[in-house]
Amino acid sequence: MFAMMARTTRAAAAAAKKKKQKGESSSQISKREEKQEEEAEDEDLDVSVHNTQTFAATASQDTAAITIAESTNAALEVGAEDAATWTKKRRAVAGEEAARVVKKARVKRDEVVIPAARTAGVKMMVGAHVSMSGGVQRAITNSLNIGGNAFALFLKSQRKWASPDMKEADATAFRAACEKHGFDPGKHVLPHGSYLINLANGDAEKAKKAYNCFLDDLKRCERLGIGLYNFHPGSTLGMSHSESLGRVSTALNKAHSETKFCITVLENMAGAGNVIGGKFEDLRDIIAKVKDKDRVGVCLDTCHLFAAGHDIRTKESYDRVMSNFDQIVGRKYLMALHINDSKAPLASKRDLHQNIGLGFLGLEPFRLIMNDERLEGLPLILETPMEEEKTWAEEVKLLESLIGVEGDDPEFLATAEELASRGAGERRTAGIAAQKKAVKAAAKPGKRGRKKSTKKDGSDSDNGEYLC
Ligand SMILES: [Zn+2]
Ligand SMILES: [Zn+2]
Repeated sequence: MFAMMARTTRAAAAAAKKKKQKGESSSQISKREEKQEEEAEDEDLDVSVHNTQTFAATASQDTAAITIAESTNAALEVGAEDAATWTKKRRAVAGEEAARVVKKARVKRDEVVIPAARTAGVKMMVGAHVSMSGGVQRAITNSLNIGGNAFALFLKSQRKWASPDMKEADATAFRAACEKHGFDPGKHVLPHGSYLINLANGDAEKAKKAYNCFLDDLKRCERLGIGLYNFHPGSTLGMSHSESLGRVSTALNKAHSETKFCITVLENMAGAGNVIGGKFEDLRDIIAKVKDKDRVGVCLDTCHLFAAGHDIRTKESYDRVMSNFDQIVGRKYLMALHINDSKAPLASKRDLHQNIGLGFLGLEPFRLIMNDERLEGLPLILETPMEEEKTWAEEVKLLESLIGVEGDDPEFLATAEELASRGAGERRTAGIAAQKKAVKAAAKPGKRGRKKSTKKDGSDSDNGEYLC
């Protein structure tokens, strides 16, 4: 690039000299030189933009500085009288260029159009928790729109105890659409249970209500040919921990006896207050008392892992967490992953999902996941905040783009940095909030977790209207 640029500018200088010899006036010469300088700049910019495309995400001051340095050298080389003026002018151009490069990077992301094409032949089955509003079959259309190869959905309202029965026409349409579009409902569809369900509830009446809602979900799964059903293990509501876990196992055994094939998939949790599932040991102890081990599994949520104190941000820590999981629970139980970044810091116990790369996890753990062969074929479900379908479509493509990418790849590092800078504001706010909370908790140690245990249904009050 430098050689090419030098050749161009040198040629321009030689041409100017030749014209001068032909008797051009000095003002004509300076005008011509100015034009040639501009042309050289344009050429330089083209090359520069091309070469900095991979660093587009971080292109701002760095790019500007490099371009300024390069053009200053070029100016000196062609004998520009006033390198300082040249540099000043170039600084403005370089600033514009940086803005242009960043804009170009954004445009590139915006290029994901709806419906987004599904990536064929991938082993990592990425998708999102999509809406089924208008009937369960709508989930397939919504998944196709974002280019997902797997998807999650609610089977009924996640915040109501009773919902109308699923229409047979909807169930038929769902099964037909799965077949038509090549979604294996036995493996790549992961319904999420109602947030109200707390199988650990010690109150007999409430436990029965929860169980009925749970069983109804499982039966809906089986009508749709769905092989996995993901649910939150629940809350002890301040009662005995081991007895609460035992109640979950008992409910699972009963549900398994009343259904045929659907695997009940326990989700790991952020572990706030009395919530079960922040520790791998909770999942292990529930599974231990499940009679039919083929009907129980685990879904690991990356945000929950991190919030519960499992650091997966580096290759070493990720491997350590996965090997702990293998030793405590057993890799064979891992049926799915929820792919979320975290708005809250490590061990915050806060269940606050963030878009990929913007949160405290950053992009690296997702690169590790996308290159972890042991996760091939499992549904990898985004539950990130979604403003429009495009967000998920872009995140699906972003995750898929990490397959086969090394941790020191410049393009990867630039993307990671760009996403991290986009999320910096929210991380700062969340960090301050977490600090304040910790100080408050330290001042009033008795209050911690009590608020959660008074919640009637035992659900995590952090959840709000977001997916979890
Ligand atoms: Zn969550
Ligand atoms: Zn989740």
